[in-house]
Parts: sequence; structure tokens; C-alpha cells
Amino acid sequence: MKTTEQISSVYANVTRQFDKAADLMGLDPNIRKILSKTTNEIVVNFPVRMDDGHIKMFIGYRVQHNNILGPYKGGLRFHPAVNIDEIRALATWMTWKGAITNIPFGGGKGGIQIDPFKFSKAELERITRRFTYALGNNIGPEYDVPAPDVNTNSRIMAWILDTYLSTLPPSERARSTHVVTGKPVEVGGSLGRDKATGQGVVFTIEEWAKDRKFDISKSTYFVQGFGNVGSWVARLMKKDYGATLLAVEDVTGAIYGKDGIDPEKLTAYVRDKGGVVGFPGTEAIDHETFLGTQADIFIPSALENQITARTAPLLNVRMIAEGANGPTTPEGDEYLQAKGIDLIPDILCNSGGVVVSYFEWLQNKRSERWSLKEVDAKLRKKIVEAYADIREVAGEYDTDWRTAANIKALKTIELVYQERGIYP
Ligand code: NAD
Repeated sequence: MKTTEQISSVYANVTRQFDKAADLMGLDPNIRKILSKTTNEIVVNFPVRMDDGHIKMFIGYRVQHNNILGPYKGGLRFHPAVNIDEIRALATWMTWKGAITNIPFGGGKGGIQIDPFKFSKAELERITRRFTYALGNNIGPEYDVPAPDVNTNSRIMAWILDTYLSTLPPSERARSTHVVTGKPVEVGGSLGRDKATGQGVVFTIEEWAKDRKFDISKSTYFVQGFGNVGSWVARLMKKDYGATLLAVEDVTGAIYGKDGIDPEKLTAYVRDKGGVVGFPGTEAIDHETFLGTQADIFIPSALENQITARTAPLLNVRMIAEGANGPTTPEGDEYLQAKGIDLIPDILCNSGGVVVSYFEWLQNKRSERWSLKEVDAKLRKKIVEAYADIREVAGEYDTDWRTAANIKALKTIELVYQERGIYP
């Protein structure tokens, strides 16, 4: 993903989105002041012993944007580009996500500035555990609940769980397993959490298709990022609808398959080889060619700031489903709106992850285990309701869907502040 244009910071984008929605709805100016700041920003520098015996220092973050609706909730990202600005932005989006899906969670996000592929498994485990220890009681099952994000997975969540529980008095451990979600099913994870974000993306595409009388089974799509979100969306679009995957890009490069790419086989290939490049039956293409793929739907599922003033004109699609957080800049948005390209905004499109995290949290609190069928049905209901709410707000304010989603979130939160008031 090379870029030569100047792009504003991710948090600056969040602020512009927020201002647009707040202006349009006339958000209470006092509540606006509160929501335009993060509540807590925890920065930890922590030492970890490497395999060869030397000590290396790492920097990690946890930003807690707002918890008026419930415990801070949001993923942990392990990536070299992690910085406070990005984590602030991601934490803010989490607050809006909890609000539009009507779950009792606020917004948080965290991460470590690290390239996890440069460390052994044992080193990664010690880094994760020491980070968890450094965060201490800044996280907690009723206070701030992390989950997986870029380059983190259920195994990393299991290490966090184990470390956190080890710091508690023995009598409190069994009832604190909801300190983290996205755990392996064997250690208290929920069935369906692994695919939840991708599944939620597909549910939003289904709703859009109903509105547009669009036949998904005949559709073509391409995906940027082939990790948890991208690979699940790709597989479900094929398995449930028979749609055709044309191109995929990940950190190793981009591929195009003129007769379609089998997402199941590609998933197995990526597991084995570590990236999509070289997948049999496909040709390697460059980034610009990838973005220009002629298809019905583009599903960005990697990082922020991908659809910009420069790259939006390259797109040849009818609709964009934002699996990733923040893939489109405000300038990118303006271009897409002018061209009449539909967009399902990130906080709605990828909210399946946090919704099923909420289900996992509930199951842990109640010592229950729900079936996959139950999880999927409850997820679908949440997504369909949120989609309908945002459609209504978009109509009411005659605005784009991102702004409508933000307005929906802000209205929900505004009401709670108005009822509760500000102490003292
Ligand atoms: P992941 O680590 O599983 O996968 C990330 C993918 O992006 C990988 O295929 C990687 O190769 C690719 N990628 C990284 N850098 C790239 C680059 N420069 N160009 C092209 N591809 C690149 O991460 P994930 O959990 O799938 O998260 C992806 C996005 O979805 C992020 O924006 C994340 O915040 C968002 N998201 C994730 C979840 C979740 O439940 N995991 C929930 C909601 C939103």
C-alpha cells in the first residue's frame, strides 16, 4: 500500500467525522466537549527478556475513550505503526460501535508498537504477558475488556487471560474470565467469535442487497487484507452466496484470478505460506491495479487510510463494505458520495466482532455456553436492527451513512448524559 499523498492523521479523521455529525444533529455543546476527548490514555514502557538473554524495551498503549454505556471495550493491535493517535481514533470508533449496536459497552483500544513476525513464539508470549502485567488493573472484566485486532488472535487472548487471572486472589479467578474476549472456545470463548466480524460484514451486505434489489449470488468482490476479517468475509460470501472473489491483497502483495479465487483454498495457502502471493491460478498485480479491479463490491479489511482523494478515483465498484476500521479518509468519502458509490461504514459494517464479544462476555458472566446457531441468530438480529436504525437516520437527516451512523451513536450517548447529568 504505497502512498505519496499527504494524509491527515487517523484521529484527525475521527474528529472531522464527529464534527460533521455533531453539527448536523445539533449535539448538546457540553456533551460535545466530553466526547471530543478520550477519558484515559495509558502508556506503558515495559521490559521483556529475549530468547538470547538480553532485555528489550517495548511501548504499549490502552486508550479508554468513554464508558458511559458500559465497560471500555476494544481490541489490542500488535503492529509497528501503532501509535497514540491511531489508538485514540480506534478507541473513539469503539464507543460509537457499542452505541449503534445497543450493547452495554463503551470504547477502548490498545496495542503494542511491534512487528510480531520478528519474534519467536516464546518471546511473543512473554511480551504479551508482560504487557498485561504492566496494564494491571487498568483492564478488568467489569471495567475494560480487550479483544483481538490486527496481528492478535485467540491464543494471545488466552495468554492475557491467564496472566490477568494469575494476578488476582485465587477466589476471584473463576468469576473473572470475561476480562478478555475472543478467547479460544476451550477456555471460555464463544462459538462464532472467530468468524463474527466477517459474518457481521456479510449480514450488512445482505441488508444492503435487499434495499438495492441486488443479487449477491451473481456478484463479484475483492478483499484487502486476508486475516481474520478478510478471510472470513471472503469465505462466507462464497459459501453462503456463491459470489465470486476476484482479487486479494495482503501485506505480501496482491493477486488477481480472472476465473475467481477459491477463498477456502486461499485460507489454507495463507496459513501454510504466510501470504496470498503465489497462490496457484492467480497472477500478481500491483496495488493500483488491485484497487482498480472491476467488481461489484470492495471489502477493505486491513488498515486505515486506504481510500483517499488519490485512490478513490481508481475504484471500479458499486459498493464498499468497510471490514477494516477507518479505511476511508474524509476526502475519500467525499469522492465516493459524489460518484454515488454506496458505502457501509466501518462502525456498522464490522460491528459483528464487538457484538459477539458481548455475547462471549455474557456467557462467561452467566456460566453459559450458547450454540453457534444461537450466536449467529442473535448477531443477525443486532446487525439488522442497527442497519435499519441507520437507514432511518440517513433518511431523516438526508445524509451519508457514515454521518448517519455517527448521529445515531451520538444521540444514544447524549440521552444517557442528559439523564445522568455531570457530577458534582
Ligand atoms: P489480521 O491481523 O487478522 O489481518 C490483517 C490483514 O491485513 C492481513 O492479511 C495482513 O497481511 C493485511 N495487511 C497488513 N498490512 C497490509 C498492507 N500494508 N497492505 C495490505 N494488506 C495488509 O487483522 P484483522 O483482525 O482481520 O483486522 C483487520 C481490520 O479489521 C482492522 O482494521 C481491524 O481493526 C478491523 N476489525 C477487526 C475485528 C476483529 O474482530 N478482528 C473487528 C472489527 C474490526
